[in-house]
Amino acid sequence: MQYHAFIIKYAEIGVKGKNRYVFEDALMKRIKFALARIEGEFEVTRTAGRIYVEARKYDFDETIAALQKVFGIIGICPAVSIERDGDGKLPDFDKLSQKVCEFMGAEYPDGKQSFKVQVRRVDKSYPLDSMELGAMLGADILAAHPDMTVDVHDPDVLLHVELREKINLYSRVIPGPGGMPLGTAGKAMLLLSGGIDSPVAGYMIAKRGVNLEAVYFNAPPYTSERAKQKVIDLAKTVSVYAGKIKLHIINFTDIQMYIYEKCPHDELTIIMRRYMMRIAEELATRADCMGLVTGESIGQVASQTMQSLACTDAAVKTMPVYRPLIAFDKQDIVDISIKIDAYETSILPYEDCCTIFVAKHPVTKPKVHIMEDHEKYLAEKIDELVQTALDTDEILEIEA
Ligand code: ATP
Ligand code: MG
Repeated sequence: MQYHAFIIKYAEIGVKGKNRYVFEDALMKRIKFALARIEGEFEVTRTAGRIYVEARKYDFDETIAALQKVFGIIGICPAVSIERDGDGKLPDFDKLSQKVCEFMGAEYPDGKQSFKVQVRRVDKSYPLDSMELGAMLGADILAAHPDMTVDVHDPDVLLHVELREKINLYSRVIPGPGGMPLGTAGKAMLLLSGGIDSPVAGYMIAKRGVNLEAVYFNAPPYTSERAKQKVIDLAKTVSVYAGKIKLHIINFTDIQMYIYEKCPHDELTIIMRRYMMRIAEELATRADCMGLVTGESIGQVASQTMQSLACTDAAVKTMPVYRPLIAFDKQDIVDISIKIDAYETSILPYEDCCTIFVAKHPVTKPKVHIMEDHEKYLAEKIDELVQTALDTDEILEIEA
């Protein structure tokens, strides 16, 4: 069926008053951005608290796929519009009824559904009121599609007939991704590795309307160009949903080697992680980010026991660390990774900077004060190494 518009449904809870405009403006901007990337002619408009995407010459599946990546949309309703007549009047009942019956036939070709007609008369000048119109249209649908039935309590199909500037007919609601439109919540710094978890963590935070920057700790020559490219590819995948991402690539090799040289090997991962957090915090501060984001989840590995997380957390002094996967099982994370198309990239078997020097038996119950004590072994050179790492930051602008 050729639809003329997509009516965008979004959650209105918490977006009252002035915030509502901020929310709607951001949502419209993101919708326009998503549709600018596909073929077709689209016009995104807002009337009376509704966002419409009017569409001409477009591919249905491609359009839905694009809209399903826009956070803030909870439903997409493909609609057929009936224009006003030449004299500016809405079409009379007979014409409307004919279109409604055609619509039901085209949308539900097997013709066996139960339905209810829901009329909304925004233009009150129409000669029939909502109740009358609903009843009369229902009768005509039954006559045209004899195997359909009316069910006003629990219909298979809720047919909306909305009398506005035009008359819109729609019944299907295709689910959107939910969440909040990007740009309504500030910015956060994602610690992005080549694994499964951190891209999912970034996706989830972006879904709440947060813009992302990202940082990857690279350890050449111990990690390869391919491992770095994998992270760039993952950043690109996340940016399909999260918009433009500035990706910092920090050369971590010297810091890692120095920790390896000076600190107990079973504490290497935790101490390394604490330096990653500190560097990420510095980058985040410079970029006006309001928090860090990691893909950690309790108990997943030795460096993610509650004790280890406490040590990692304690290294960050000025902002919260958001861990959206903290209580997720691996399989649940994998499911999201597959859904957002990151999984195939994430499982490519390239080495990670953390796996290179890992101890056979890393500490699982580190204590913050002991980590702080052992970091004193690094006093001589660590500040300089951190400074050099920050000074040689390679910045890439990633955009899907
Ligand atoms: P992931 O799948 O995200 O790599 P993981 O299960 O492998 O996670 P760890 O390697 O313990 O877990 O890393 C925990 C978190 O620390 C990651 O989710 C990520 O946010 C951050 N992290 C780890 N290594 C790096 C890195 N090289 N660069 C940037 N962030 C990293
Ligand atoms: Mg990892």
